[in-house]
Amino acid sequence: MTAAVRVRFAPSPTGHLHVGGARTALFNWLFARHHGGAFVLRIEDTDRSRSTDEHIASIVDALRWLGLDWDEGPPAPGYRQTERFAIYRAHAERLLAAGRAYYCDCPPEALDRQRRAAQQRGETFRYAGRCRGRGLGAGALRLAIPAEGATVVDDLIHGPVTFEHGQLDDWILVRTDGTPTYNFCVVVDDVTMRITHVIRGNDHLSNTPKQILCYEALGYAVPAFAHVSMILGADRSRLSKRHGATSVQAFRDAGVLADAMVNYLARLGWSHGDQEIFSREALVALFDIKDVAASGAVFDATKLEWLSHEYLKAKDGAALAALAAPFLRAAGLAPAADHARLAAICETVKERAKTLVELVERARFYFEPPAAYEPKAAQRFLTPEGARRLDRLCARLGAEPEWTPAALERAYRALTEELGLELVDLAQLSRLALTGGTASPPLFDVLGLLGREEALARLRRARAAAGGTP
Ligand code: GLU
Repeated sequence: MTAAVRVRFAPSPTGHLHVGGARTALFNWLFARHHGGAFVLRIEDTDRSRSTDEHIASIVDALRWLGLDWDEGPPAPGYRQTERFAIYRAHAERLLAAGRAYYCDCPPEALDRQRRAAQQRGETFRYAGRCRGRGLGAGALRLAIPAEGATVVDDLIHGPVTFEHGQLDDWILVRTDGTPTYNFCVVVDDVTMRITHVIRGNDHLSNTPKQILCYEALGYAVPAFAHVSMILGADRSRLSKRHGATSVQAFRDAGVLADAMVNYLARLGWSHGDQEIFSREALVALFDIKDVAASGAVFDATKLEWLSHEYLKAKDGAALAALAAPFLRAAGLAPAADHARLAAICETVKERAKTLVELVERARFYFEPPAAYEPKAAQRFLTPEGARRLDRLCARLGAEPEWTPAALERAYRALTEELGLELVDLAQLSRLALTGGTASPPLFDVLGLLGREEALARLRRARAAAGGTP
């Protein structure tokens, strides 16, 4: 199987890429990469009223962000269904010529009446085959399916699923207006794109017997199928907007790392023992479609954040600086032109940030002085005693010839001793002055990164806030 594997992700561009679609794309990508096969991206835009170029761009953008690169697909021509109508027409004509399809001129109103009547009886409407054998030359083109027997979908995840032909009908391939139907396009695309494994959401399972009958009518080999179970919300109903953010972009904009998102999506329904953290390479090496669970997986945003935190901590400052730059801009903080400084800043805050948005918020004080002091801490530290200590600190640091974390630490320790205090007394007071709060990255790193001028200015401002005359 290895060399010939060809899979596809076939989104309908009627919205942003949501987590369910992203996971389907990921499973296809992992399957292709694991087997050294090809991953094809196809845009299913036959529903012209709901498909837009903006959605295509946004889906492409989200896949790129996730790092799910495709071997064939847009922007190359021929991978959008609306560009492929001549191919569908040719296949329809072949089926007609072979007697595997026939025209039907039943008026839509009559069919609608029958459909409503069936619904009232609590049954699914099935076309009774009135036009079969009438030899009509125009109308809607229907597939003639065998009346007897059953079609078995040998699903790689769910095992065999049987559909009696009595439950199916001669479904429409091409409408009276000449437009091909969705299921017909999918079959023609999958055969002409030489897809070997169809991995998709199990909301499509009921389409599969219809599609298999069409493959057989066309005389093509049927690909393997794997229907991935739905993603559920905490209440175990199908994940939807009312459960919160569901689009990949929403998580990207919240500053979740792409590697964490990929890791998280892979674990949604797929597992390898109880391991949680997987590099992309490990996922590619370990992924087996047979390890995908047949039951639905519950989406857990807290776990996604936990993973994002793990990935964020593991990145070095330089990598984080590059990732954080657009978030700094979005927060109105110009990223320091000095990339090395930004990298060092990111190093100091990464331990406590779950997302890039949080990382930027924790780093905010490096770029702008605190707008206010934490009230409780201010009450405790910005006192006449605090003012005296800040005076001594400013004098001492102002005279410090060297502005490095090591030199600053020596200066603090010496002053602490002179004043008969503990280091923590001066450290908390300084943190408050420099950052507006008392929880901050290591003080001497903060001082070093702020630089002498800015650090002293902030200490003096706190001194003024503490009142009294200097
Ligand atoms: N276009 C379909 C969807 O977005 C996918 C169809 C398929 O994978 O066969 O749900």
